This record gives sequence, C-alpha cells and structure tokens, in this order.
Amino acid sequence: MNYIIYMKSSVIKFFRDYCREKYSVRVRKIPVAIPVTCPNINGTKGRGGCIYCFRGSKPEHIDPGTSLREQIRGEIERARKRYGRKTLFFLYFQSYTNTYLPLEKLKEYYDSVLDFPEIVGLDVGTRPDCAPDHVLDLLRSYSEMGYEVWIELGLQTANFETLKRINRKHGLSDLVDAVIRAKERELKVCVHTIIGLPGEGREDFLETAKLLSALCIDGVKIHPIYVMRNTPLARLYEEGGFRPLSIEEYTEEASLFLEYIHPETVVHRLTAEAKPPHLLAPDYCTYERKLEVIRLIEEKLKRRKSRQGARAERRGLLSVKGTGGHRGKGVEIKG
Ligand code: SF4
Repeated sequence: MNYIIYMKSSVIKFFRDYCREKYSVRVRKIPVAIPVTCPNINGTKGRGGCIYCFRGSKPEHIDPGTSLREQIRGEIERARKRYGRKTLFFLYFQSYTNTYLPLEKLKEYYDSVLDFPEIVGLDVGTRPDCAPDHVLDLLRSYSEMGYEVWIELGLQTANFETLKRINRKHGLSDLVDAVIRAKERELKVCVHTIIGLPGEGREDFLETAKLLSALCIDGVKIHPIYVMRNTPLARLYEEGGFRPLSIEEYTEEASLFLEYIHPETVVHRLTAEAKPPHLLAPDYCTYERKLEVIRLIEEKLKRRKSRQGARAERRGLLSVKGTGGHRGKGVEIKG
C-alpha cells in the first residue's frame, strides 16, 4: 500500500491538520456531483455565469450521470487503497450551487451520508444568495445527528465593484447575511476567495481577508485566478485586457493574505488545479505543481518569521452562539 507521509504545517492551519487533530486519522473529502445548476447560469440571477466559470468547477473525473451512491463508493475505495483502511470522509457537494433544488430533493442527496459509516461530515458548496433558512435548517439537522457540517460560500472578493465586473450577481450583504444565519445554526462556514481578479490589487485582497476575520469564519479557500478556455475571462485574457499573477506574485500575495486570516480559521485550499487542455493560464494551476505553490507560500511566511493570523484581528461577535437580535433574511420583524 502506498501511504503518504504526514507532516503538520507550523505556519498554516490546513484542513488536513485540523481533521488529524480532531479525528486522529486521515480525513478526505469525497467530491461528488449532482444534477443541479446555478441561478447565475439559468437566467434566475444571470446568464452565462461568473466570467471565469468553467462547468461549475466540476472535477473532470466525476460523471454526474453516475448515481451518487456509486460515486461515493468509488471514491471511498480509491482513497482507502491510497491512504489506508482507517481513512474517514466528508461528503463534499462541490460543483455548481448545491442548495439550489427543492428541499425534498436536497434531503434525498444529503441523506446519502447515512448509508456510509465511514462518512463523518457533510460539506456543501453554494452561493451566498442561495442559503435560505429552510436549507440551513436542513443542514443543521445533520449536525444534530452528530455529523460535522460545513457550508462553503463563494464570495471571491469583498470589493463590490469587482463582484459586478466578474458577473457574480450577488452582493457583499448576501455573504454577511448568509454567514450570520449559518452561524446562528452553529454550522461551520468556509468562504471561497480568489486572489488576482481583474482590476484588483493588494489592497483589495487584504480587505477581503480582513472582512473574513471580522466575520469569524471557520474556514477559507484561497486560490489564484486562472483562465479556462471558452470563458469570458479567456476572451479578456486573449485580448490583452488582463494578466493572471505569476507564481511568485501569487505566493507573495497569498502569504500576506494569510497573515490577516485568524490562526484558528481552517485553510481548506491554497491553490487551484485544472487540466492543461482546458487551462489557458497560469501554468502553475495544475495538480502537478500544487505542492510547489503551497511550499512557496509556507517558505515566504517562515522567511518573514510570520504565520497565518500574525496580523489578524477578530472582533468575536459571531463566534458567540446567537448574535443577539439578528433576525435573518425572510423572517418577519415585528414592532
Ligand atoms: S456561482 Fe459558481 S457555478 Fe454559478 S456561475 Fe459562478 S462559478 Fe459558475
């Protein structure tokens, strides 16, 4: 069996280290795809999606035509062969908007965790404007059963002008609202961010990091902007209207970004992976160079004698159960 040697990072709180501490064994995410779309693609919020969107971030090896339980069984088998029989799992609904279906349908999909005793948690990726109270209540029902439940909210940037420019079709207020209501239900919140979006610079990246710390989020995903063929971003890139960050620039910006992220925030991802036939640029956003990118970020932090959270401030309001009077979207406010 081909075991991978485990080494804990001294400067970044990675998801794998967090899980190792909590569960004492290796924990892997099982990415799955269900037949779902996105309101920014089907015309409800917008058409065509975010300017960088490529097939809703679906991993290429996953066939959404395969039944969900078959996808799960296949991934568990593969991971246990590679990492050992004791490996535990999170079921990760990754592609498109995984809360954008009728409640009964969502329950049917999320309920598949119940069939696999080796699954300890549920991780659901969605947009901040697609987290209604009834879906958050459904997610809370799994944490009440003992599962660890994460909701992943795509924000990408705290800059509202950029949100418009990249055609996200949601605002910053949607993110703040979703975070507050998810935390009221004691769900763990992970926010996706992108470094290097068109028109942005360091000030924007760091403002995003500061916002996340102020919101006391539990997890973060950070990756460089990358250009996939046949997207509006690819056209902008080919016309010379935008240049992605070099590996040197990205790792520098990501290391600074991490200094403003609270040390207890779990880092779920630090780079992006795409396959070269579809990937236009930059060339380091591949599976093969993933460890190189992470190593460079860690080295930069160590060289500065710094670490994740070295400059973070957390106000603490949302880390307390309940937020004292916030009523949430869709709840009637009386008087
Ligand atoms: S929210 Fe996600 S799935 Fe929807 S258009 Fe944007 S990147 Fe694509």
